[in-house]
Amino acid sequence: MSRIAGRIVHGLHARDTRISPEGRGTDLQLMRESNWLLVLNYVRTHGGLPRAEVARQTGLSRTTVGNIIDDLLTEGLVRESGSERAIPSGGRRVIPVHFNADVAHIVGIALGRHRLIMVVTDLGANIIGRVEVPFPAYEGPDVCLPLLAAAVRDFISSQGLPWNKVIGVGVGMPGIVKDGICLSPTIPGWVGTNVYERLCDLVGLPIYLDNNAKLGALGESRFGNARDVESMLYVRVGTGIGGGLVLDGQVYRGGAGSAGEIGHMVVDPHGPVCACGNNGCLETFAGKQAIVDLVRERKPEVADIVTVLQLAQAGDPICIAALQRAGASIGAIVSGLVNFISPVLIVVDGSTMRAGELVLAPIRAA
Ligand SMILES: [Zn+2]
Repeated sequence: MSRIAGRIVHGLHARDTRISPEGRGTDLQLMRESNWLLVLNYVRTHGGLPRAEVARQTGLSRTTVGNIIDDLLTEGLVRESGSERAIPSGGRRVIPVHFNADVAHIVGIALGRHRLIMVVTDLGANIIGRVEVPFPAYEGPDVCLPLLAAAVRDFISSQGLPWNKVIGVGVGMPGIVKDGICLSPTIPGWVGTNVYERLCDLVGLPIYLDNNAKLGALGESRFGNARDVESMLYVRVGTGIGGGLVLDGQVYRGGAGSAGEIGHMVVDPHGPVCACGNNGCLETFAGKQAIVDLVRERKPEVADIVTVLQLAQAGDPICIAALQRAGASIGAIVSGLVNFISPVLIVVDGSTMRAGELVLAPIRAA
């Protein structure tokens, strides 16, 4: 794939389809790349269309669109199919142009405290492979980042995909991430690590790194429940509690990059001490460990959240009460945010949400 094609592909799913100033040469080059992106995004979202229709819809001349599509064909980013929707026009066959999502692949990684979840997608964001591997994040970045790079290579080769077709890796991790640097001690030993730079070196591919809840919010807003929603609050309930905010269609980061850290909003100032040093943060009521600890006060044999979820599904009142307390705490914080931000949609996600209505109902009630 040529450099121009690479830049175009990286701009594909952005709401703002202007090319970033990075890599921009002359205004002419910028215009050329913008036109490529315009045509490619149109073909991607609208399916098999003849060139003349693409020209009509994008407002570009037929000649310009014809040249761009020839270039996109050379790059493998589109394909022409003569068999479908061929319409006779003035005696000539009209050949529809399709987006070729298989031309390259993207790896997505959820970096957790104990495991890595990896997916590989095509350029249409269709998941074509998924794997979950143990990940000892507590051993620190010196041990873990080389492990992550090796895991990505193993994963791609196990999927039978050529490495040179992978055009980038998106990594979501817990805690505050700004300019590629982990800023919060969410995973002990990682604070101050330039995770972005080290992954670029170790993996050898473009890396997109951000907080997992911000990426969750971005994913929901581009491909999930919040498509075409201008303002959305995303809450991720798992080991920690993360939040992501989409305002005017863009993920809001805040000045320090820490917007959305709802896990450390205080539910009860006299509550338990949190890992962050404060008392009574939401995580100390609704994080996985807090739920398990509450259950263990009366059922010491319960080891983990999976057991709590299973027992709650089977009707165990102690486990149900612990999950409901978590939901009520989340609801208390979320209802305050809703009053302030007035989002169109709230998406609640994360492993604890396997409990379904047990956690969701108290959130709704708040
Ligand atoms: Zn805290």
